[in-house]
Formats: sequence, structure tokens, C-alpha cells
Amino acid sequence: MRNPRDEPYWLDSVPSLNPEQSPLPAAIDVAVVGSGVTGLNAALELRRGGRSVVLLDSGRVGQGASTRNAGFVGRTLSHSFSELLRRHGLDHAVSHYRELHDAFSSVRQVIEAERLDCDLVQGGRIILARSNRQLDRLTAELELRRLHLGWKYERLDRRALLDEVGCSKAIVGGVLLRDFYSIHPGKYCAGLLSRILSAGAQVHPFTHVSSVARSKAGSGFVVGTSRGSLRARNVLIATNGYTGPEFDWLRRRLVPFPGFMMATGKLPRALLDEVLPHDRTYTDTNFLITAIRRSPGGDRLLVCGRPGQSMPVTKVGELLRDDLTAMLPDIGQIRISRAWNGYCCGSFDRLPKLGSQQEGIHFAIAYLFNGIPLGTHLGRKAAWQILGMQEGASVFSQHDFTTVPLYRGRPWFLPAFVSLMALKDRMANSSGHIIRKDR
Ligand SMILES: Cc1cc2nc3c(=O)[nH]c(=O)nc-3n(C[C@H](O)[C@H](O)[C@H](O)COP(=O)(O)OP(=O)(O)OC[C@H]3O[C@@H](n4cnc5c(N)ncnc54)[C@H](O)[C@@H]3O)c2cc1C
Repeated sequence: MRNPRDEPYWLDSVPSLNPEQSPLPAAIDVAVVGSGVTGLNAALELRRGGRSVVLLDSGRVGQGASTRNAGFVGRTLSHSFSELLRRHGLDHAVSHYRELHDAFSSVRQVIEAERLDCDLVQGGRIILARSNRQLDRLTAELELRRLHLGWKYERLDRRALLDEVGCSKAIVGGVLLRDFYSIHPGKYCAGLLSRILSAGAQVHPFTHVSSVARSKAGSGFVVGTSRGSLRARNVLIATNGYTGPEFDWLRRRLVPFPGFMMATGKLPRALLDEVLPHDRTYTDTNFLITAIRRSPGGDRLLVCGRPGQSMPVTKVGELLRDDLTAMLPDIGQIRISRAWNGYCCGSFDRLPKLGSQQEGIHFAIAYLFNGIPLGTHLGRKAAWQILGMQEGASVFSQHDFTTVPLYRGRPWFLPAFVSLMALKDRMANSSGHIIRKDR
């Protein structure tokens, strides 16, 4: 059998993400480094706010995780509501989760305001539990959110779940979050790019930024790139999981890790309609999460998972196929058409970060697996901060952005951490049922 293609499935159905290259300008108001969801949203807001903008990327537009993700749009924070409540009190928990909701809503707002055609489907999210203890914990957390924030959820027992998903016997039940939605991430980036170009921003793919230094000749910065240098009054660093040694201060505060995806070949529609009839997004409760959805158009399955693991992309397809068939055994034999990876990152306190490193150098970064909403939201907020607008205020600017001694940006501890989390997941999953591949 041929190896699957190592390229995001999303790129098949987007127009070019390589705008024609023009010479770099000598001087600009704002240089945005990184052309993913964060950089694209920031650049658009900065142009709309009247600033001249260049958007620079080492690769094509959206080269990083923004065209490599699963397209799930949800409200996920690494800290549960109950954890924030217990540690910091109700106001703290509510303020963080309210802003998380703003981030969740911002993607739809941008899509509607800019009339982006990116296959938004509000199908809802189902979270699948493999033990009653997991299901009770999940329900208790969602009940707290309902009580304090008014967010609705539905608990599904095994029987109700089977009307939703043809899932393995190992799954005991789940919850349904009806307002969660999904998009086509490639089309989202392509749509934003077209709006930015129409708004008059300069976009320079294949332009690696190698340095940012305070200008000796007055205010602002000299931005050194692989295609020459330019002066900028402000710089926004939106490089997330791809932050390199040229941004050492940030790199020492970030833990990058890979995530993986697989797309099946075309599957019979009747089979998909039986196994996943409602076109929702699906995840489990594992720390090392597995996420499944139908492709826009509905004729393939896309599977995301194995975060943080170290493996060649050629292995990814097979492993994710095993994860898929363990969850949906009725899917039967499948062909893998694509397998690819991308990089995310987190901070040491697991919170997203918005702020400035020194006056004039801004960042919006560290979203873990929730970068479509958080990148959209914090990219816009970073732009509003640069524009001096009150709307730039954020709870995610209020926390220290710390590192740990001797850490230089290479997460040597990741394999041990991933093994520990895998063990924790196995223990949580087996407190009720052992995963079997039968239904
Ligand atoms: C497999 C996978 C699945 C995911 N699924 C989801 C999901 O379903 N939902 C969700 O919300 N989130 C998901 N995420 C997370 C989400 O994709 C990211 O958090 C988000 O895309 C980050 O966007 P960004 O614009 O900040 O960074 P990125 O999109 O990663 O962009 C960073 C850019 O910076 C550029 N860059 C880096 N250094 C330089 C330099 N020195 N000079 C010039 N350019 C530079 C890179 O080339 C890159 O294009 C997933 C991530 C992965 C990997």
C-alpha cells in the first residue's frame, strides 16, 4: 500500500495561500510575524484601525498549525472551571470562562462580519466517556458551568448515545454541547488573507524573521528578515508553536509539542450516515485526546490525536486509524489518504498569553489545542492593544509569563510527561470498562 500523502487535507480545497511577492517596504507601522489565525486576525484589525501593516511568514500563509488543525471550535481551557473556582474563587473562574466564551464567539463573528465562506457547521460537540466515573466528573464540571455561566449541556446515557454515534462498547455515555461548531480551517485562513489584501496590508510569505532589535536611530525596531530589513514602530509576534531561537525570551517560556491528523479516503455515505449521522464533532475525555469529525461535504473522516508523541508522519496514519476503529468499530476497513502533523504550544501555567515583552514588541500565544478561538480573539486583542483601544484588555494579560530554571525552549521532559498522561488516561478509562474493539 502507498504511504498517505504528508500534506493537510484542507489544502485541496483552498485557493493559493501564496500571494505574489513584492519588495519589502523600508518602514511600516506594524510588522506582524506569523501568518496563522493570530497574525491574520491581528493584521486585519490593524489595517481597519488605519495602520500600515506587513505580515511576514517563513513559509506560505498559514504554514503553521492554522491550516493543519481539525477545525473544531469550542470553549476549552486547560484549567477546568472547578479548578479555578477552588484555587482562586468564583470571580476569577467566571472572568476567565467569560472571556473564553468571547473567544468562542469571535470566530463566528469574524466569519459573519467578513462573509467568509469556510463551511461553518453548528453541529454540536459530543464528548465520549469510557467510564461512569469519567462521565460523572464531566457532568459535574459542566453543571458548574451551567450554574454560574448559563451554558447548557445534555448528558447522554449509553442508549441515547447510540442514536448519536455508532461507538464501541467501551464508551459508556457522553455529553452533548449543542452550540459548539466546526469550520474548514484552510478556507478560514484563505478568506482572512483575501480580506487583508483588499484592506491594503502587505503580505510576505517565505520571509523568515531572524531578528528584532530596537532602532538606534530613534523609536521603533529594525526587523531583520531573510529578504532584507525594515523598520517598524511595533512588532507583533504570532509564531505560537513555531517560535524559534530568534525570539529567545518567548521560546524560553513556551513548551512546543506536535499534534497529528489523518484523513481517510472517501467512504460510503450510507455507512457514515449510520455511524455518525449528525455531523457533530467528537472527542473523548483523555488528556491525550482523540478527536473525530466528518469532512466538510461529509464523505471522509478526519481524526486528530496522539499529541506530544514523537513519531514519523508515516506512522501517524496507522496509529490514528487504530484509534478511530477502537472508537467506531463499525467503520470497518479504511484507506488513509493523508497524514500530517503540526505544532502547538503551551505556557508553564497552561494559560494563553497576551502582552508585550518590551514596549512595542507584542505577543499573543500559547493556546494549546484551542487556537482557532483563542488565536482569533487574542490576535484581535493584540491589534487593539497596539491601537491603544480599551477593547484590548484581557484576563489573559493579567498573569505572569514565567519560565523555569535552565529551560531553553527544548522540552526534553515531554516524552516522560506524555507517558505519564497515557498511564493516567489508561487508569481513568479502565475504572469501569476495558477498551475493546467490538461494539
Ligand atoms: C494537529 C492539530 C490539531 C488542532 N486542532 C485544533 C482544533 O480543532 N481547534 C482549535 O481551536 N485548535 C486546534 N489546534 C491548535 C491551533 O491550530 C493552533 O493553536 C493555532 O492554529 C495557532 O495559530 P497561530 O496563528 O497562533 O500559530 P500558527 O498557525 O502555528 O502560525 C505560526 C506561524 O509563524 C510562522 N513563523 C514562526 N517563526 C517565524 C519567523 N521567525 N519568521 C516568520 N514566520 C515565522 C510559522 O511559519 C507559522 O506559519 C490544533 C493544532 C494541531 C497541531
